[in-house]
Amino acid sequence: MQQQQQDTISALQAMDAAHHLHPFTDSADLAKRGTRVIERAEGVYIWDAKGNKLLDAMAGLWCVNVGYGRKSIADAAYAQLQTLPFYNNFFQCTHEPAIRLASKIASLAPGHMNRVFFTGSGSEANDTNLRMVRRYWDLKGMPSKKTIISRKNAYHGSTVAGASLGGMGFMHQQGDLPIPGIVHIDQPYWFGEGRDMSPEAFGIKTAQALEAKILELGEDKVAAFIAEPFQGAGGVIIPPDSYWNEIKRILEKYNILFILDEVISGFGRTGNWFAAQTLGLKPDLITIAKGMTSGYIPMGGVIVSDRVADVLISDGGEFAHGFTYSGHPVAAAVALENIRILEEERLVDKVRTDTGPYLQDRLQTLSAHPLVGEVRGMGMVGAIELVADKHSMVRFGSEISAGMLCREACIESGLVMRAVGDTMIISPPLCITRDEIDELIFKASQALSLTLEKIAARGN
Ligand SMILES: *Cc1c(COP(=O)(O)O)cnc(C)c1O
Repeated sequence: MQQQQQDTISALQAMDAAHHLHPFTDSADLAKRGTRVIERAEGVYIWDAKGNKLLDAMAGLWCVNVGYGRKSIADAAYAQLQTLPFYNNFFQCTHEPAIRLASKIASLAPGHMNRVFFTGSGSEANDTNLRMVRRYWDLKGMPSKKTIISRKNAYHGSTVAGASLGGMGFMHQQGDLPIPGIVHIDQPYWFGEGRDMSPEAFGIKTAQALEAKILELGEDKVAAFIAEPFQGAGGVIIPPDSYWNEIKRILEKYNILFILDEVISGFGRTGNWFAAQTLGLKPDLITIAKGMTSGYIPMGGVIVSDRVADVLISDGGEFAHGFTYSGHPVAAAVALENIRILEEERLVDKVRTDTGPYLQDRLQTLSAHPLVGEVRGMGMVGAIELVADKHSMVRFGSEISAGMLCREACIESGLVMRAVGDTMIISPPLCITRDEIDELIFKASQALSLTLEKIAARGN
């Protein structure tokens, strides 16, 4: 690399350290360790400013479903920026991109869901859910139904309501969260918390925690249950097969609303447009964001069932809620082009019938590695649990930071995987080919061996 180029990168890094506060980051630690400047991307690959090429097995942050470098998305944004860069959807106004997008999403969503409320992000969408379910029960004449039941180690965003709905203890510790009216039950994380019983029994047990919580609070106090189809940021935690049937039974028995947070799973990641379809669930509200625009521009929303919409609309008056950028025309144009690409290239079908099963097959080969305690996944997501002892399944002490070591080893092997504690997770672009999946698995396997060496070198 040219000295001049190196100087530019160093200057950028210095400016970054001086002025840019990063999300979910220990800034002092970051200043010590330094940043990686990401410069460009194409397909499933990203390049940093030093020219290193990495296979991005996280699709950015679970979002770049159609892959990087789609010129037609840039063109759609450019065209919309020229005709109507912004107008709001308040005060009796609307515009074509928002109309077409709402209608398109309604056509892809489960049959009983026909309306969309747009937001700027997934967090805003979950804030919207909180307000919408409480509004629903007020209009139904049951204003005592206010509490929302969520799960420990869930992720529902980072706004005050989003972080409260989420079940991340380290987030709750900062800023006196959760806010009142949000409670959390145990998560269905069999490998982490349930190995003293069968996955089936553990699935039933953790689902029944919902019923116990409803009975404890009183059905007349509970507004809704919120859950991700699989916990993404929590570590790609996929509930045992028995879980959802029991949850469905409980949801049917008690009069509470069901919010399915599909910010990650929506727009194809499980092999259907929505995981509700993959899992046979009937949510009242679905949270969307991320893959909605493949991350090319920010956008989120809530898909609203007829049950909720009918009450909001006919008994409602004004729902005093919304954002300047609700249904932003450029974001909507980008989302429409993103969906058009998913349809034209049949990417959702491919995830269900071809590349998804192929990824899961190949991922399972890693379970033979001495560091690996469990490999799990569905559609186009996966998790690899690192263990200190494969036979006893004892996990590493936190002082080892095995997950962080593995993440570094991945980068050295030309691969981006994310570490959640000692769980390595992937969520590749839906356009990834079989050859690229082979490359991903090869690099992951290299990285696992490198991790083993790093751990040994630390004298453990
Ligand atoms: C990322 C995420 C959110 C928050 O979305 P933002 O756009 O970051 O606000 C909410 N729910 C889930 C399941 C997510 O993965």
